[in-house]
Amino acid sequence: MTTFVEPSPTATALLLLGRGSDPSSERGVDCPGDLPAPSDPGLVARARAAKAALGDRVFVLGHHYQRDEVIEFADVTGDSFKLARDAAARPDAEYIVFCGVHFMAESADILTSDAQAVVLPDLAAGCSMADMAVLSQVEACWDRLAELGLADTVVPVTYMNSSADIKGFVGRHGGVVCTSSNAKRALEWAFARGQRVLFLPDQHLGRNTAVLEMGYGLDDCVLYDPHNAEGGLSAEQLTDAKMILWRGHCSVHGRFTKESVDQVRQLVPGVNVLVHPECRHDVVTAADLVGSTEYIIRAIEAAPAGSSWAVGTELNLVRRLAAAHPDKQIMFLDRTVCYCSTMNRIDLPHLVWALEELVAGRVPNRITVDPETARYARLALDQMLALP
Ligand code: SF4
Repeated sequence: MTTFVEPSPTATALLLLGRGSDPSSERGVDCPGDLPAPSDPGLVARARAAKAALGDRVFVLGHHYQRDEVIEFADVTGDSFKLARDAAARPDAEYIVFCGVHFMAESADILTSDAQAVVLPDLAAGCSMADMAVLSQVEACWDRLAELGLADTVVPVTYMNSSADIKGFVGRHGGVVCTSSNAKRALEWAFARGQRVLFLPDQHLGRNTAVLEMGYGLDDCVLYDPHNAEGGLSAEQLTDAKMILWRGHCSVHGRFTKESVDQVRQLVPGVNVLVHPECRHDVVTAADLVGSTEYIIRAIEAAPAGSSWAVGTELNLVRRLAAAHPDKQIMFLDRTVCYCSTMNRIDLPHLVWALEELVAGRVPNRITVDPETARYARLALDQMLALP
């Protein structure tokens, strides 16, 4: 049986945010420019004025996990996949300001035209999960599979929450990108083409989907640890596996525990526990409902007045849901509050700075994916869009 193991250090060094650079990270850490002070009482007016000056030339996207002060200026909100599609649907917008994290801005750059510039207001807004799968590590894993004569039997599937490099790798090797909404369909597609799947980078989404939605056993899953020699797996384990799960996880969703589910059930009789599939397997198994961010929003909207909900996802979203539905009791699943710290890097001073730079005719923090990587990443993204 495969059990969750606490993560070993990622390849990403702990750099002071806003200083230095980290070549093995999917993001940058430099944040150039003079930011307005967070205490500036004119920030809201400045953001409004800059947006008005740019008009239809700018399109501001806001991920559901962003701060309220940023969401206020978003033209659309959504999860990473919806926002990438929204960006692609606005070819007239010269600038796409992506209030989210680095891999999302990369996907938007891949799906938009070369004439459009995708801007990330703070380059330090990365994703710890995406950083847990680095291209050189994934290539070493693939080499091992090839040495064992298995590579031809493996279809790589990567979660949207991965760098463009990893999406490009998957596209080069005939695989597909998935989201938390379509992971089951992506795995069905992959198993129709191969005997086993290499699932990147979120072990929990891969395991939860294979076991809870597709009938595979925990014994069919093995955990490939890029920080261990040969992934920490024997040739026999790799040969016997159906799901080769990458040892990555979300630092926000990975902190919910089965104990938090038990505690909230004791404290709030009749509570509905609703969690994201990036949570650990035992948490998802103990919950009442599991689904993507968009699913969570719809479930709360459809819930009857007076019902109680403990929600296991990012805190900004849970707080907004609670504020939007005062007729329902909505609480955070864990007793310790936890934001996604990298998502929270985007704040109003960074947004104002980025918008005012655009007004001044300068494009700050432009995110570009090199054409070769983008071509293969697009193959894997298009394959996802073509899923039945
Ligand atoms: S919530 Fe998790 S998966 Fe999403 S950006 Fe933050 S660390 Fe990455």
